[in-house]
Amino acid sequence: MDNEIEMNRPTWVEVDLQSIRNNFLKIKEKVFFRDVICVVKADAYGLGASKIAATLEEVGADGFAVASMEEALTLRESQIKKPILVLGYVDTRNLHLASLNEIRITLFDKDFIKRLKEYRNETPLKIHVKIDTGMHRLGISLEEVPFVFEELSKFKSVIVEGVYTHFASADSDPDYTRFQISQFNRVLEYLKERNACPKVVHAANSAAVLNFEKAYYTAVRPGILLYGITPNHQKIQLESDFKEAVSIKTRIVKVSYYKKGERISYGGTYQTEKESLIATVPIGYADFIPRNLSNKGYVLVKGLKAPIVGVITMDMMMIDVTGFPYIHPGNEVVIVGSQGENKITMEEFATLSNTIPYEILTRLNKRIKRIYK
Ligand SMILES: *Cc1c(COP(=O)(O)O)cnc(C)c1O
Repeated sequence: MDNEIEMNRPTWVEVDLQSIRNNFLKIKEKVFFRDVICVVKADAYGLGASKIAATLEEVGADGFAVASMEEALTLRESQIKKPILVLGYVDTRNLHLASLNEIRITLFDKDFIKRLKEYRNETPLKIHVKIDTGMHRLGISLEEVPFVFEELSKFKSVIVEGVYTHFASADSDPDYTRFQISQFNRVLEYLKERNACPKVVHAANSAAVLNFEKAYYTAVRPGILLYGITPNHQKIQLESDFKEAVSIKTRIVKVSYYKKGERISYGGTYQTEKESLIATVPIGYADFIPRNLSNKGYVLVKGLKAPIVGVITMDMMMIDVTGFPYIHPGNEVVIVGSQGENKITMEEFATLSNTIPYEILTRLNKRIKRIYK
């Protein structure tokens, strides 16, 4: 274990880079070696974009997608060389900076054409046009396609490199996804007839990579699947060759016996039913543990399930380890991951928390050290 962890608050996220490499290669194979644009927005779903992107670039990532200019520039600062696409809003004052840094921006609203006119530089600006085929978040409508592409063809230093769309329910609604695919195909046919189809065509998020071969086009855009986590654990079971890459761990800092009837934590919501061995662990709701797991969640200690007792506090919580063998400060506690024969998957933790793995990952507080294996 890392010395830095031992010397500080012993709470950490373990990111298994080998699993991420493995998952990337599985995706690459699955999509018949089409380009894979790795979605590393929100600091690579909380896992550390620079490290994750560098690992993926080494193993063959064809590009990256992020949420903002700031995220794109962070990747460039950490020497990421492959194309980067910003999926979200970019201010016109940043267009020049984008072109200088080989950052692609998304045109997702027809009014952006007007703002593009402010771009008067020599360096070509590469853009991807996003089509709204049913997600209704960003993108131009099918009706707007002729106007937008016609206008774009008039710009000298704007290159339309890509066209894409995003699925609303590829994890849960095949009919709606097929409808979105057919809408997108209509756009592609229109563009091909006019010899105006951009070189890069992409649509598939993780769920579509798993379920919709027809959505592969020239490139795919997975995020969560890179970490070996299913986009929807109720509907999509991952093949066992995808490896879960994330574990979250801490260590016991105090152990105490309390007699029957003692109240644990704020508000006394838990009372010991018998003499109990209670351990305090340095992880709380400020770290990401939802407070509604108070008296409901569990963790692993010595490979056994230990229930969370009393309310979860900001930086700490208590767990019941009565009857566990040889418990002492320093014992490892697994919040997500495996220990001995037992395992708490990210999906299991998220479900118990009434949310999805995406939210759990992106709420991991910065103060939790990320350890890369
Ligand atoms: C987040 C995102 C993705 C990746 O989604 P996953 O479900 O993590 O694979 C792909 N495309 C767009 C536009 C996104 O916002």
